[in-house]
Amino acid sequence: MKKIEFFKHNIGKKEIESVTQVLNSLFITNANVTKELEQKICQYLNVQHCIGLTSCTAALHLSLIALNIGPGDEVITTPLTFAASANTILHAGAKPVFIDVEKKTGNMDVNLIEAAITEKTRAILPVHLYGNMCDMIKMKKLADQYQLKIIEDAAHCIEGERDGIKVGQLGDTACFSFYATKNISCGEGGALACHDDAMAELLYKLRLHGINKDAASRYTDKFRQYEIDVIGWKYNISDIQSALLINQLDLIDQRLDLREKLAQNYEQELSKLDINFIKVPANSKSARHLFVMLVENRDSVLQELQNRGIGVSITFKPVHLFKYYRETFAYQEGDFPIAEEIGAKCIALPIYPKLEKQEQEYVIDTVKDIVT
Ligand SMILES: *Cc1c(COP(=O)(O)O)cnc(C)c1O
Repeated sequence: MKKIEFFKHNIGKKEIESVTQVLNSLFITNANVTKELEQKICQYLNVQHCIGLTSCTAALHLSLIALNIGPGDEVITTPLTFAASANTILHAGAKPVFIDVEKKTGNMDVNLIEAAITEKTRAILPVHLYGNMCDMIKMKKLADQYQLKIIEDAAHCIEGERDGIKVGQLGDTACFSFYATKNISCGEGGALACHDDAMAELLYKLRLHGINKDAASRYTDKFRQYEIDVIGWKYNISDIQSALLINQLDLIDQRLDLREKLAQNYEQELSKLDINFIKVPANSKSARHLFVMLVENRDSVLQELQNRGIGVSITFKPVHLFKYYRETFAYQEGDFPIAEEIGAKCIALPIYPKLEKQEQEYVIDTVKDIVT
């Protein structure tokens, strides 16, 4: 039987050689290679600062801390996402307030933000779901009007653009993931982008226990006692992880082109079959992280695709329906009907540069056979 993986990473000879170089050098935690990665990300996104971290979860958590959001505060976000987006709001001691999503894209419905704002609202935490950017221009107008911060969860969307705006351009911070199945990956890793100098300085400290100098700058000279004036976490990325990412960053747009072709092929073929799927918003460059189709009888279709050797995923069960959220915040089914509908119908299909043409044809033929 054919076996088509849900995802295959892009780590090859060059990445492995870069890691070997780091392992043969003096510093194996964050030093010069991490600095190089951070500078490359700044250039790619055209942002002022980038801070390399252990995960996107860490980036979201530190964003909230650096923006001074905590107990008593509310943050507006989407229920249709991976749990990290909402969990980190709880890590910071604040309360996630969900709003429903758009039917076509699954992204937070920006038109619902205003009604969710209370005296306690401090920030909006949009997720650029599946690689498609939210309407940042509209969101930024509202944020300015109500003096709210914006923290972009861009775990799916390092490459995205909409209305000429890039990820990280209008948000106070943007958070990226280099987890195993993300567009660029080092197994586990993340980064945070921001524009403000003082905030970046604080974030460099917060990622390492509040210490004011990283390992390399502490030890290349003679030992000097460091200072701690704020309590931080242990969230710094290492040079081993950074070495895996630098070459992938050089090839990021080339690989996006390959995913774009696969996505367009899915769109064309599923349209012929009258099967519904998540759409890319107008005036957008999608990062094409996930290709999500929407079907009735999702669970049996999901099972049958797997029986026929196709790797698939549910992206996502809405966060408010998980037991902890139901019990803690009294959320229930029916609270966010569109997010719940997408959550009940979604199946993410294989889409990655190594997916071969015949493999995609097999996926499409199998979907046709099962669904229609
Ligand atoms: C993967 C993911 C995260 C978390 O990323 P980590 O690097 O694993 O912490 C956050 N938000 C979304 C939408 C994700 O898909």
